[in-house]
Amino acid sequence: MNICIPEKAAYIIEKLEQEGHEAYVVGGCVRDALLRREPEDWDITTSASPFQVKKIFRRTIDTGIQHGTVTVMLEKEGFEVTTYRIDGIYEDGRHPASVEFTSKLEEDLKRRDFTINAMAYNPRTGLVDLFGGQKDLEQGAIRCVGNANERFTEDALRILRAVRFAAQLGFEIEDDTKFAITKLAPNLSKVSQERIQVELTKLLMSKHPEQIRTAYELGVTAVVLPELDAVMNLPQNNPYHCYTVGNHTIAMLEQIYPTKTLRWAALLHDFGKLETHKIDENGEDHFYGHAESSANYAKIVLRRLKFDNDTIDQVSRLVMYHAYHLRREKKIIRRCMNRIGVDLFEDLLEVMRADTMAKSSYQRQERLDDIIAIRNLYKEIIKDNECITLKQLAVNGQDLIRAGIRPGKQMGELLHAMLDYVLEYPEQNQKDILLEKFMTNTDGKKDE
Ligand code: ATP
Ligand code: MG
Repeated sequence: MNICIPEKAAYIIEKLEQEGHEAYVVGGCVRDALLRREPEDWDITTSASPFQVKKIFRRTIDTGIQHGTVTVMLEKEGFEVTTYRIDGIYEDGRHPASVEFTSKLEEDLKRRDFTINAMAYNPRTGLVDLFGGQKDLEQGAIRCVGNANERFTEDALRILRAVRFAAQLGFEIEDDTKFAITKLAPNLSKVSQERIQVELTKLLMSKHPEQIRTAYELGVTAVVLPELDAVMNLPQNNPYHCYTVGNHTIAMLEQIYPTKTLRWAALLHDFGKLETHKIDENGEDHFYGHAESSANYAKIVLRRLKFDNDTIDQVSRLVMYHAYHLRREKKIIRRCMNRIGVDLFEDLLEVMRADTMAKSSYQRQERLDDIIAIRNLYKEIIKDNECITLKQLAVNGQDLIRAGIRPGKQMGELLHAMLDYVLEYPEQNQKDILLEKFMTNTDGKKDE
């Protein structure tokens, strides 16, 4: 089995071998190359100690030297070269708390999580596959290296990684591995939220985000995302829906464009339906106010997972406005753009499109046509540079000071009232018109 590896990686391997060491490309890159997927990076594993690696190559960076990793720089490209090692307990996901170096490749491959991630390759010796990784790649199986119970006990994050790889590759988790997951999923409560965030995001952004269902079925979301379990089987007995909240959410995930913000917004967009659920006298389910409530949940969940503020802000805004009553009317569109922020309006339309696709067919085509028409009107609004924000208002604070208003609360209110007015009547966004209209009305308040 031949793998085509980049020239520079081959050069590093050759150099190490010339100096009497062993060296291989290893892990994710071998898996991806065998699958004919483009690897993200080419990691190299070697019998040479970090000290020896640093002596052989002119430019190196001590990336994780205490764990045996040195980055070798060739021109502008970096390659992580890691000494064969036996791991202690993993703490941050990339580096175990303690390591022991070894001279045996087999020991290094044994510490890796899944058979498909535990292969090494070297152009001279070919593929080293000690645990049946190639067969599992062919059969589409995620299987632990060695005893699944032991491997998940060493590092519970591997549980989530199993589901994440299944989602990225479209694979099935093999039975023993699956069984160990159901048993050990509670251990995920000991894993740091940052590591969970990384894996959940990769799962959501994968080709098969519907595999979040596997995480649910195996008891993984019960630990890392209990808010999903809470709405999974919540019925939505009304004309617009044909699924439970959980199944609707998963259908929407499959529909929505794969950016981090959009996929997270889709996952979280209806979490507030449990606490807003009402059944009317005809037995129909209603969820008034669920968007606001879901936006709250979105913030709670994303903060807990230690997301950055920008992501929390964007996702929660999308969730907050996902049920906004947008119609093919420019003034309604302008108002919505103002509320959610112009930066997110196109994303909001994508959220609405995917949400619609994941509902019953009742009025679906009409709604999809609406969304296309709304997007076109939005583009006209942008092209015509119509006023959506205070920045675009023809009157600013200076103008008001000149007109005798003191900076402060009243000035802010006045500017917002003007903005509110031009959102409705964009052609009125002219200094003299606005001053005339608003200053005569507020004459009495000029001196507070
Ligand atoms: P990708 O980079 O595409 O997310 P990858 O397989 O390269 O996937 P990394 O997290 O970059 O995954 O890790 C590189 C390799 O290190 C893996 O292929 C695996 O062999 C090993 N590895 C990573 N994390 C663990 C872990 N928690 N337990 C055991 N082995 C691990
Ligand atoms: Mg990798």
